[in-house]
Parts: sequence; structure tokens; C-alpha cells
Amino acid sequence: MRKFNDFEVIPLRAFKDNYIWTLRNDRHAVVVDPGDAQPALDYLQREGLALAAILATHHHADHVGGVAALLERHPAPVYGPRGEPIPTLTHAVGDGDEVLIPEFDLRFRVLGIPGHTRAHIAYYGANSVFCGDTLFACGCGRVFEGTPEQMYASLSKLAALPDETLVYCGHEYTLANIEFARAVEPDNAELQGYAVSDAQKRKENRPTLPTTIGREKKTNPFLRCLQPAVVDSANKYLAARASSPAQIFAAIRNWKNEF
Ligand SMILES: [Zn+2]
Repeated sequence: MRKFNDFEVIPLRAFKDNYIWTLRNDRHAVVVDPGDAQPALDYLQREGLALAAILATHHHADHVGGVAALLERHPAPVYGPRGEPIPTLTHAVGDGDEVLIPEFDLRFRVLGIPGHTRAHIAYYGANSVFCGDTLFACGCGRVFEGTPEQMYASLSKLAALPDETLVYCGHEYTLANIEFARAVEPDNAELQGYAVSDAQKRKENRPTLPTTIGREKKTNPFLRCLQPAVVDSANKYLAARASSPAQIFAAIRNWKNEF
């Protein structure tokens, strides 16, 4: 939770480990990836807020499954990726488009970040990026519909945002991700630190998110495919020498799937 201009970003929990990130000011809310309507309906009612917009990052049910039920009570524009099967969309958007939220005097730039799904997008604005299941704290999403090359390019695009950018991911996967990241980079001191501080946050039932692009560049193996320690670990896993950063990415992504 934080203040920026005149709004806060609230994590609403859904299912086992999803977050429905909710921007709110005194009168309005914008919800990102409402996989389940109920937490958002409850929050809007309790706080007396009108829904200004729904933003979807990709078509998976745990991100858009609640949109229809939310719209029944709160008609609002629904933004989401052009080229994915989301029947509730009113505004299909893609890389380079802008999403204006007048109730928040806010403008998001849409970033095309395919790989987890074919047309996955992120919303970047107000020093924040809402990136669904592409970038996680210390990890990344599985490559379901794209290629490792696409996913690596998408992660590199996010890594190029300013270091101070707040990263709002779709899931609370951080502790398990840190465990894997430490297997890839056993000598990364920053990782040791976050292993302790994030475990404490979870013990207190607090989110470990948002993270920042700066933190991810120091700790996330999937953004560190040029670091010698990550290259060595990937080559050991492959029992061969990877010939490109995308191959190193693919190797550690496969390793993580088995971890
Ligand atoms: Zn997903």
C-alpha cells in the first residue's frame, strides 16, 4: 500500500496466491486481473467506490475469470490484450497503445510482453508496472504460448524500465522463487538478504510485493542471463555450453520447471 499522487495500490487476495491489484482514490477504483469477482466486489462495496476500469494482462482464468460478474454490478471499460480470447473486453490494446484513466488523471503505456501467453501485456505508468504472469519477484512465468526467445525479449523489455519502477506481479511466489534463485546463484548476497526479509513478511502475512526493477536486476536469475555465475549454472544444467542469452534463459526456465 502506498500513496502516489492521490491514489493507493491495494493488494486484494484471490485463490491461493493471486493478487488483484486495485488502484483507489477517494471515489474510484481500477482493478487489475480480477480472476475472482468476490474480493473486488466486497472491497468496492465496503469502501463505497465506483469502478473506473478493469485492466487485464492475459487471458488465463485466474486473471479474468471474475470480469463478467464484476461488470454485472459495476459496468466499466475493460482493457486487455488484442489477440487473446477474452470475450468481456471492451478495449483491445497492444504494444505502444495508451490507456487513459481520467478518474485518476493517469495514463498507462501498454507494453507487449508475449511468452507466457501469445499476446500478454503490461501496463506501465505512475512509476509502476502491472505485469501479470511475465515477471515475478526473483522469477518469471512459464512459457506456455510463446518461445523462450520471446519471453527473454519480454523480460529484457521490462528490465529496461527505470530501476525505481514498482513491479506489481500477479502471484505471491517470491519465497519459492528465491530458493531456486539461490540454487542458480549461491553466492548472491542480495538473495540471502531477501530470503530473510521476505520470509519475515510472509510470516506476518504481508505481501512481498511490489518489488522493483532495480531489485530484480540484482536478484532475478531470468534477468541475469549475462552474469557469469548464471551462465556457469545454466551450462552445468545443460552439460553443454549455451550459445546465447536466450538459450541460457531457456535452460534455467527448464531447470526451474523441474526444481
Ligand atoms: Zn497466467
